[in-house]
Amino acid sequence: MQQELHTTPPKSPPVATRKFRILIVDDDEDSVDLLAKWLTMSGYDVRSAGSGQEALQRISQDRPDLVLLDLLIPPPDGLTVIRTVKKDRLMSTIPLVVMTVKRDVKSKVECLRSGADDFIVKPFHFDELDAVLRASLKKRYLYTSLERANQQLRDANEKLLKLTVTDERTSLLNDRYLRRRATEEFKRAQRYGTPLSLIILDLDHFKQVNDKYGHDCGDQVLRDFGRLLMANARTTDIVGRFGGEEFLAVLPNTDGIRAAIVAERIRRATEEHIYKYREFLMRVTVSAGVASYPANQGVASEGDLLKAADDALYRAKQVSRNRVILDRASMPADILEGDLSAIFKASYEDAQPLKDEPEI
Ligand code: GH3
Ligand code: MG
Ligand code: MG
Repeated sequence: MQQELHTTPPKSPPVATRKFRILIVDDDEDSVDLLAKWLTMSGYDVRSAGSGQEALQRISQDRPDLVLLDLLIPPPDGLTVIRTVKKDRLMSTIPLVVMTVKRDVKSKVECLRSGADDFIVKPFHFDELDAVLRASLKKRYLYTSLERANQQLRDANEKLLKLTVTDERTSLLNDRYLRRRATEEFKRAQRYGTPLSLIILDLDHFKQVNDKYGHDCGDQVLRDFGRLLMANARTTDIVGRFGGEEFLAVLPNTDGIRAAIVAERIRRATEEHIYKYREFLMRVTVSAGVASYPANQGVASEGDLLKAADDALYRAKQVSRNRVILDRASMPADILEGDLSAIFKASYEDAQPLKDEPEI
C-alpha cells in the first residue's frame, strides 16, 4: 500500500472524551505499521488484525469505535467480515471503512451494498483518511449519544409508569390502578360470563397502633401487612392498597367461596403474625368483606360490587372484627342449595403444600 506520510502535525480526533479505538484489518504488515503509527500520533487507540477471522474476534472482543478494513485478507475475506458484523445486533453499529484499490463504480457499490459505511481508495493521503475517519466517528458518536439518551428516556418512563401505579408507602399497587383493573375485569366477567370477586380488607383498630406507638410504627405495620398480603394472595390476584389502612384484592375467575377462602387465609396469617417495631412486639388483626359477580344478581357494575364488598366489611366490623364476611347475595347457588362440595373442593385446591411434607 502506498501511503504518503503526513507532514503537518496530526489533528486531534473529533469530540472525544476518551480515545477512539480503531481496528486496522490488513495482512500487509508494513501498511499496518505505518497506519498505526500515524493514527496513534493523531490520538487514536489503535489495534490491528491480520485476517478476517482475527478481525471478527477483535471486533466482538475489543468493541472498536471504527474498523478500517482491507478487502483482500486471509479468510474470511473483507466483504464476508462486513456482512457478518452488520448482521450482528451488538456489532452492527460499528462503522466499517473499507480501504480498496478498486476505483470502479461497481466495486464501490458492491462494497456499500454489503454494509460498509464508507470507503477510501488506495493510495490515499492521510488528510483524506482523516476526513473519512472523522465523518464516520462523528456519526458513530451521535448515534451512541442518541442511543444513550433513548435508554435514559426509557428508564425514566419505566420509573414514571411504576410511580403512577404504585403506592409509595407500601410499594403495592395503588388505588387508581386497582380501580382501573376492577373496571376491566368486571367488563371481562360480564362479556365471558366468568366469576369475579373482590375482597376489601381493613386493619382493625389501626388508629390505636398510631396512638400507642406513633405514626412511623403505623407506617411500618402497613408495609409489613402489605408484604404479608402479597405472600398470601395468588399470582393471578390483583392486590393493592386502596387507601389508609384499607386494601383491595381483585380476583378474576374466582367465585365467592374461593375468594372467601383466600380472605380467610390472609386473616389467619395476619392474626398469627408478630409485628416488630423498635423494641415493641405487637399483633394486628384484619377484617374483610367479600363480594362476587355474577352470583350477586343485584350487581350491575364494578361500583356495585365494591359497595357489596364494603357492606360485608362493615358487617364484619360490627360483628366482631378479625373476621371475613361473604356478602350473602354473593353465595354461589349450589352452596345456597346445601351442596357444600364446592367449599371442600376449593379448600383443597387452595391448600398450600407444606415445604417438608413427606412423600407418600
Ligand atoms: P376499625 O377497626 O374500625 O377499622 O378502626 P380503625 O382505627 O382501624 O379505623 P379508623 O378509620 O378509625 O382509623 C384509621 C386510622 O388509620 C386513622 C389514620 O390515621 C390511620 N392511617 C391511615 N393511613 C395511614 C398511613 O398511611 N399511615 C399511618 N401511620 N396511619 C394511617
Ligand atoms: Mg381500620
Ligand atoms: Mg378504614
